[in-house]
Amino acid sequence: NVRVRFAPSPTGPLHIGGVRTALYNYLFAKKHNGTFVLRIEDTDQTRYVANAEQYIIDSLKWCNIPFDEGSGKNEKFGPYKQSERKEIYKKYVDILIEKGWAYYAFDTVEALDTERKAHESEGKTFIYNWHNREKGRLVNSLVLTNEETQNRINNNDKYVVRFKSPQDETLIMNDEIRGEIKIDTNVLDDKILFKSDGMPTYHLANIVDDHLMEISHVIRGEEWLPSMALHVLLYKAFGWKTPKFAHLPLILKPTGKGKLSKRDGDKLGFPVFPLAYTNEETGDVSRGYKEDGYFADAFINMLAFLGWNPGTEQELFSLEDLAQEFDLKRVSKSGAKFNPDKTKWFQQQYMQTKSDALLTDLYLPILEEKGIKTDKNYTQKVVSLIKERAVFVSDFWDLSSFFFEAPTEYDAKASKKNWKEGTAELMQELISEIEKIQDFSSENTEKEIKEWIANKEIGFGKVMQPLRLSLVGKLAGPHLFDIMEMIGKEETILRIENAIL
Ligand code: GLU
Repeated sequence: NVRVRFAPSPTGPLHIGGVRTALYNYLFAKKHNGTFVLRIEDTDQTRYVANAEQYIIDSLKWCNIPFDEGSGKNEKFGPYKQSERKEIYKKYVDILIEKGWAYYAFDTVEALDTERKAHESEGKTFIYNWHNREKGRLVNSLVLTNEETQNRINNNDKYVVRFKSPQDETLIMNDEIRGEIKIDTNVLDDKILFKSDGMPTYHLANIVDDHLMEISHVIRGEEWLPSMALHVLLYKAFGWKTPKFAHLPLILKPTGKGKLSKRDGDKLGFPVFPLAYTNEETGDVSRGYKEDGYFADAFINMLAFLGWNPGTEQELFSLEDLAQEFDLKRVSKSGAKFNPDKTKWFQQQYMQTKSDALLTDLYLPILEEKGIKTDKNYTQKVVSLIKERAVFVSDFWDLSSFFFEAPTEYDAKASKKNWKEGTAELMQELISEIEKIQDFSSENTEKEIKEWIANKEIGFGKVMQPLRLSLVGKLAGPHLFDIMEMIGKEETILRIENAIL
């Protein structure tokens, strides 16, 4: 029974690495008919950002990554927000203390600092574990009597509860992506599990919740790999079944040098967030894929390939296809370079798969804003003619304005090259020809005008380039005879007359 979770901490907007973690969890759940849980890990109150949780939920929604269980949905293992589960954790700390796997420690920040410096001056790293926890200047329940410990607690002395890392053991663990990992427990720190303010740390809350929520696979970012040993030991200490672990590779900057950070987006000119985000403290706005005009499915397809590939040449996958194909065995161990050009390429591919009707619905409001009066049918035909050249819906206007209004200026360089001596007379003659055409369909107009040019024994371009300039204003755009059919005979003539003037 596969149960996976995405467990973000609401400390700010979700970076694309976080979205990818959510996506892989979702795909894994779908592939195995499992359950995808969303759990909000907000035990660190100092880093809590009020609008971050809503941002996470909105992002998953835009990406079409629905969770099966979470706040407001199928709450049988709820609540799904750690701050609402506070009461649960204390009991589990007590169990660990009782079993001898954890202990109270009363060291002040200053005392720890002194200790660290003393070690450094001897060229050693200070690790709070068996090396020194039962001797020297450290103050904890392993050196105090039970009574002394109790007195300090009653006295409201600040304490933390630390995990008691085992001594001289080699921990052999397995990661679904990385294979066997060996750790010497002597290098482990006695991590803090619980604080006297009644809040658990990430480590304790995470393990307790994964256990209570019956999580079968922990799929998360590589930055959590160093915590895996502690987590495995915690399961052992509780006597609980350990879930399977899979640590996803980092997402790297486009240069491949270093991790893609939240700040890179603004520096490098592409979004690193799914949705635009306003920092409520500074008022700074960061760009988002949605607001930049990306389709959610293109964005998701791109993300799926950041660290995974199907092992074939196929690159375009719907969410359902991804769920069919996805396999942790095909997730790479090494970092995945983020490629903004490839992201655009995916967007362009998806543009071609969208129906003209849908794109028309997206384009009409833009036209309305520009004060263009048009109708849906006409706009839909325009869309069908231009979409192959578009990456974003926001490109549509530049690619199609001439379908809606006559050019107000003509590309200077192109005019100089193509509008020569005799062109005006030629265009005048063309107008007379066009006036004679009865059936103004693209095919027929093309046939008649080509015949006329052939009879005149002049180069095709001599007519077609000035004609394009007259109708479009530049040497760009779709098939010219399609444009003529669309704008109609009268408008065609009017625009040529304008150009002659
Ligand atoms: N709350 C952690 C985070 O913010 C979750 C790590 C995990 O999945 O265990 O990424």
